[in-house]
Amino acid sequence: METLSFKSSFAQAAEDSYTNFDTVKEWKRETGGLALGYFPVYFPEELPHSLGILPVGLYGASGGVALDMATAHTQSFVCSITRSVFQMALQGNLDVFDGLIFSNICDVARNLSGITKRNLQKRYVDYIHLPINNNSSYATKYLNDEYLRVSAALEKLVGKKLETRQLAKSIRAYNERRRLQLELVNLRRSKPWLLDYTEWYSIMRSGSIMPVEHYVDQLQRYVSELAAKDAKAMDRIRVAVVGNFCEQPPLMLMKVIEDAGCYIINDEGLLGSRWLGNVETKGDPLFSLAQAYVQNAEPLTVRFHPDINKQSYIANFVRNIKADGVIFLTPKFCEPALYDYMIYKSTLDEIKMPYLHLEYEESSSSFEHIRTMVETFAESILFD
Ligand code: SF4
Repeated sequence: METLSFKSSFAQAAEDSYTNFDTVKEWKRETGGLALGYFPVYFPEELPHSLGILPVGLYGASGGVALDMATAHTQSFVCSITRSVFQMALQGNLDVFDGLIFSNICDVARNLSGITKRNLQKRYVDYIHLPINNNSSYATKYLNDEYLRVSAALEKLVGKKLETRQLAKSIRAYNERRRLQLELVNLRRSKPWLLDYTEWYSIMRSGSIMPVEHYVDQLQRYVSELAAKDAKAMDRIRVAVVGNFCEQPPLMLMKVIEDAGCYIINDEGLLGSRWLGNVETKGDPLFSLAQAYVQNAEPLTVRFHPDINKQSYIANFVRNIKADGVIFLTPKFCEPALYDYMIYKSTLDEIKMPYLHLEYEESSSSFEHIRTMVETFAESILFD
């Protein structure tokens, strides 16, 4: 019974994070605190958390809103997540947030920040300019100063000062969230038959809206129970899905991939919430947070790092996780995802790893042609 209750609380929180944000309203009523909405891919949630502000990820409405107002303000060739987030900002779904924050992950997100700020003039709307040249010796100092600037704006919003000890405590809370999420990533890779994508996704997505302490408590119990679960493996291929790190694919699309004969042993959905790994809390925690971003050896498509060789990364990665094939799942009009596709596909050709490229929008609802493509892909590997 208990397992069912916390599974359903993950699912309810995940559902609420699309368009309603009722749990955020409730949290604000109960605590009197403020809430900050942040746009993916990565945002240092520890900064608002240490000031008592609830950070909430804006991962798109997944087809839950009409895009008429956003479409009137933007070009037709931009990705769906930017349009659904902007639509929600214009029509009031995001009124619960006392501030909204974006970053320079791509030109579209950069412009989304500007257009949101112009249209919501009374709201705190900010923009983190993450470093571009991450192997410069100045990058960490630069990002540290950028975090100080954003912290000062958040301090003004909430009317209190950020304290070093409190920031270190917040980093420890998020370290624990990242550790548990990565434990779940590894569990799913070794025994993908233990949970399907829908369950996996609701657990990850709920982490973008639940208060971190509550989430960590629930996740701890969930991971322990899942590790002890017994289930029978089916005859399916193991696929690594890449490209869905920002705009989220429809859950039905992921189900179609599974039903076509695949175990999804890796995907990049909500990657930013776990990508940073463990952050040092001794010394200056703000500097450590900046350093962890700059020096992270794991690639993140929207962070350029010249020391990371993406060709050798993808070759080693798919071998290490024992993938039978790769599905490039790229959002329509997403240039960063398509850049990765161009880099990765030539390497996969060289190492003779089968791959398939599929495109989606968060509101896509017809997948028959995709079903046929994935079935053919899976069969070609199974019967090779
Ligand atoms: S989906 Fe791609 S293009 Fe759109 S905001 Fe995200 S990274 Fe930028």
